[in-house]
Amino acid sequence: MAVAQLAGRRIHIRGTVQGVGFRPWVYRTARAIGVTGTVRNDADGVTIDAFGTDSELQQLLDALHDPPPAARILSVAVQEIEPRHADRFEIAASERGGDRTVSIPPDLAVCPDCVAEIFDPSNRRYRYPFTNCTNCGPRFTIALDIPYDRAATTMGSFAMCDACRREYDDPLDRRFHAQPNACPVCGPQLSLRAADGARLHVDDAIARAAGALKDGLIVAVKGIGGFHLACDARSDAAVRRLRARKRRDEKPFAVMVRDLAAAESIAVLGREERALLTAVERPIVLVPKRRSALAPSIAPRNRMLGILLPYSPLHYLLLADANRPLVMTSANLSDEPICYRDEDALQRLADIADLFLLHDRAIETRCDDSVVTMIAGRGTVIRRSRGYVPRPVPLRAALARPVLGCGALLKNTFCLAQSDRAYFGPHIGDLENVETFESYTSAITRMERFLDIAPTIVAHDLHPDYMSTLYARGRSGTATVAVQHHHAHVVSAMAEHGLEGPVIGIAYDGTGFGTDGTMWGGEILVATAASFERAASFRPIPLVGGDAAIREPWRIALALVMDAFDGEIPDALHAMCAGVPEAAFTNVVRLLRAPAAAPKARGVGRYFDAFAALFLGRVRSAFEGQLALEWNQAADPSVRRTYRFTVTADEPCAEIDMRETVRDALVDLARGAAIPTIAAAFHNTIAAATAAAVRVTAARHGRLPVVASGGCFQNARLAESVRAALAPDFRVHLHEQVPPGDGGIALGQVVAADAIVEGRFEPCV
Ligand code: ZN
Ligand code: ZN
Ligand code: FE
Repeated sequence: MAVAQLAGRRIHIRGTVQGVGFRPWVYRTARAIGVTGTVRNDADGVTIDAFGTDSELQQLLDALHDPPPAARILSVAVQEIEPRHADRFEIAASERGGDRTVSIPPDLAVCPDCVAEIFDPSNRRYRYPFTNCTNCGPRFTIALDIPYDRAATTMGSFAMCDACRREYDDPLDRRFHAQPNACPVCGPQLSLRAADGARLHVDDAIARAAGALKDGLIVAVKGIGGFHLACDARSDAAVRRLRARKRRDEKPFAVMVRDLAAAESIAVLGREERALLTAVERPIVLVPKRRSALAPSIAPRNRMLGILLPYSPLHYLLLADANRPLVMTSANLSDEPICYRDEDALQRLADIADLFLLHDRAIETRCDDSVVTMIAGRGTVIRRSRGYVPRPVPLRAALARPVLGCGALLKNTFCLAQSDRAYFGPHIGDLENVETFESYTSAITRMERFLDIAPTIVAHDLHPDYMSTLYARGRSGTATVAVQHHHAHVVSAMAEHGLEGPVIGIAYDGTGFGTDGTMWGGEILVATAASFERAASFRPIPLVGGDAAIREPWRIALALVMDAFDGEIPDALHAMCAGVPEAAFTNVVRLLRAPAAAPKARGVGRYFDAFAALFLGRVRSAFEGQLALEWNQAADPSVRRTYRFTVTADEPCAEIDMRETVRDALVDLARGAAIPTIAAAFHNTIAAATAAAVRVTAARHGRLPVVASGGCFQNARLAESVRAALAPDFRVHLHEQVPPGDGGIALGQVVAADAIVEGRFEPCV
């Protein structure tokens, strides 16, 4: 019998492969196949030295296509090495002094094996809310320092009992080197506090908290990346009480349900949505609502609902005991960052929560829930935080230097990048108060340390007054580079898709500082990473009252209509603005007639707000983007018609002029058209006008790849119809892993700033 030839391979794997159970998985796989050799963590991933027959080695390589759930493989490099006779396959000690950037994984939703244990009365972890293993559990949020091991996490103060230690040391155990490994004997414990902070002594804190939720009370629950405020999602009274106490008017609340079956009963799920809901990142997924017993005040005037499945054992137990869907919203007062420290939560939430469910495993870094929505059939991350951070976005072209991107103002996130990897920080929120600014600066400092990246340049928005700009300028020892807001949006999309440019970039949002000092937001750029040319822009609208116009979009609507009717006010308008006080209306008309009285803005988001204000009769916007969202949801998906518009081929920047659109829509209304028809025609018209402007641009600059970015592209209907309007001549690249809105802009800042400093000024044409 011929003996198969022994061969050797060195397999180098890059990606998120440390701290996610990858080495033990390789160990078990290799042993099962009969391959000998070693696996070890190294400078930037995992290296396997494997010895066996060619077919055995191929089996091992094939197995890499289906790694453990939390691992993300970016690349596999295989090299032939001299075969060595070894007795067995082993996990070798890690290389010392390696690159530390791979060492802290994101927080991982509790795995099915651990869930089974906490519901098994015969298991030693029955009902233990801090159960985890190498495939699951907290990571980033409990890390104190690098390298990532138990002593450098907030679990360092808990000494493992003998049983846990045996699991931790056994390569064949699911808990081999699971840093937060714990059990009821040795690990963290729950505690319960009353609203006034008094300790409540009960046998079963979870059962008691669930009871309170059933009674309609509000419970602050300490989670993975911060506190949630929870209440019974079927009780309208409870939800309203939470809104009143949290001072949150109409912004939708996320709902946590036990499992997919419970999710199906309140929302319409497709295959993709189900996959997102059960993914190890466990984001909030925006899905169409079903008629159900949920309280109407959860997401008023909204056809969508944000739902999520439990991601910690504590959530599973709480949901099981409460036996109903729960509102699970970030615990903060409006506009402040999420609470994550016990003392702080007890103080700041004292007037909101009736009960506190706490535990003694500290959260080191706050990290809000992530949010994903479906666009063009794909899950698109619109808030990238827990579960994703600090997993890098791979860059196709390596940066010449380490760079920090400071982000913008609203929904801020920052981005730290080095070589070919860009790391978004956690969601920070609106950088408009001291608390948020503090959480921002400390998160940047911590990420720099965790990733061991010392940026030599700091990129910021062109807006001179954003707190992120002031932060960038205030740092010492680093050069700063200003990147125009919409250029950064476009470059973020280029970076996500590995496009070097030039591209035709569509950047639509509410507002962003332009190079001419005015507010932009309806821009079509021809861009490379280092430079851009403005190829088309929406006709500007006067913003009477500045920020007041954004909160009260009827002011913008009035400006649009007067512009469309050459300063006249059609009769229908008075009825449409019935909710507006007479004096305010007259005053705005007077200001609009004064030449050059108001600053002008071009944000496509403002057009959405204005049309919603007019045709839905909505005078005020309770939160950023609310009316645009309602206008989007009002649209009848079956309507295909468009209104007229003009793209004036001005040199060098074309203007997208929607005055005819305004007139057509008002005529349509007078003829009795239904509001959903008008909303649909409006969307179709924006898409058609965009396509026309892209074609004008392509005629001048060539048929370049097209990317679409900016907050408006969270609107699935807009994104899909722009893509359809340009097919088949152009392929439109939409975001998926990087948020289209300002939460993704820091990536574009990083890549643009590096290219600018590098002097990569390829001409845009
Ligand atoms: Zn597990
Ligand atoms: Zn233990
Ligand atoms: Fe923006």
